[in-house]
Amino acid sequence: MNTFDVAVIGAGIAGVSVAAELAQYGTVVVIERETQPAYHTSGRSAALFATNNGNPVVRALSFASEDFYRNPPEGFIEHPLLAPRGLLMIGRPDQRDALDRFHASTGKGERLPKLDEAQTCEKNPLLRADYGASAVWDATACDIDVHALLQAYLKSFRRDGGTLLTAREVTRLRKKSNGWEIETGNGSIAAGMVINAAGAWVDEVAGLASVQPLGFKPMRRTAMIVDPPAGVSSMIPPLGAWPMTIDVDEQFYLKPEAGMLLLSPAEETQMLPQDIQPDEIDIAICIDRIEQAFDIRVRHVKRKWAGLRTFAPDRTPVAGFDPRTQGFFWLAGQGGYGYQTAPALSRTAAALIRGGPAPGDISAFGLSSRDLAVERLL
Ligand SMILES: Cc1cc2nc3c(=O)[nH]c(=O)nc-3n(C[C@H](O)[C@H](O)[C@H](O)COP(=O)(O)OP(=O)(O)OC[C@H]3O[C@@H](n4cnc5c(N)ncnc54)[C@H](O)[C@@H]3O)c2cc1C
Repeated sequence: MNTFDVAVIGAGIAGVSVAAELAQYGTVVVIERETQPAYHTSGRSAALFATNNGNPVVRALSFASEDFYRNPPEGFIEHPLLAPRGLLMIGRPDQRDALDRFHASTGKGERLPKLDEAQTCEKNPLLRADYGASAVWDATACDIDVHALLQAYLKSFRRDGGTLLTAREVTRLRKKSNGWEIETGNGSIAAGMVINAAGAWVDEVAGLASVQPLGFKPMRRTAMIVDPPAGVSSMIPPLGAWPMTIDVDEQFYLKPEAGMLLLSPAEETQMLPQDIQPDEIDIAICIDRIEQAFDIRVRHVKRKWAGLRTFAPDRTPVAGFDPRTQGFFWLAGQGGYGYQTAPALSRTAAALIRGGPAPGDISAFGLSSRDLAVERLL
């Protein structure tokens, strides 16, 4: 039986990033059920980096990840991970209270600027003037090159001697005196400790180890690609410079994507873990909401998909050892922020796994390992 110091279950961004952070300190294996990494949620995201989204812990993790994204470590990647996008958080007159609440929660010290109706339409020329939207403007939001990030973590992992096993589903986890025996569909593996980074399946994987679940909720979110409207080439600013435009009550969002438009109804429908597919009703709801806010008629959906955003009951990620079972570490519940938080969350998880405190530059953002601990959910 192959033996490793650490076995990571799941090759999404969570599993791959923590594995890369740990590989220099010992032998690490990543075990993935699918034939390739990032087949599930990590391959289905909107790839946005926006430090003013999510609850305070998510924001702190995002702020703490910003330096990594803007100045990746030497030798990690050759080209930039972020490209400027901007985020327009919009609200109609009847949503002003929600927009004010969002505004009050933004920024570090100084709040983000507010835009009136005319300024809002200038940022996104597709918005209907009669929709009456004003906005909060976040110029710092960026697109993430999520594919490049994942590949760079994998390259770093392999360079440090890490092993990636794909098409290997973990079917049972047996506690031994010196660690774990991990049964897969294709032979067993021994490891000193297990990191549960199984995305929507984290509670199921805990069950394989006879560890009680923590109550994670996988929530479906749908996205689709459509053509921009006729006449887009004469619009100012050009399509590629339009910001991510999000309804403040998360009823929809719209974002340019390689000359097309990415749309989402921004829904949260609780589902069982599975290879989730979009529901036609969500596609229809999305098109209806988009057509009310923007000057576009959607006649044809070029591509559609759905992914599961998995949340802990308090919507805060979990990174910590399970106090009920030795050597079982949870890295879970990144919800809709798994990419933008990955650099800080993986470094924090790696530090805790090695028995230390959270890194000083990350706790400087007001984060403590208690915020992420399993104990808060027991
Ligand atoms: C539509 C949408 C838009 C999003 N937009 C953004 C965004 O703009 N910015 C952002 O930061 N985040 C965004 N997210 C969220 C982000 O994609 C997730 O937080 C992140 O991908 C979660 O990564 P993960 O590694 O935890 O899960 P996953 O990528 O799902 O990885 C878990 C892996 O575990 C494997 N696994 C499960 N069980 C087993 C088993 N028994 N044995 C072996 N392997 C197993 C699975 O096959 C899977 O590959 C979005 C998500 C969606 C759906």
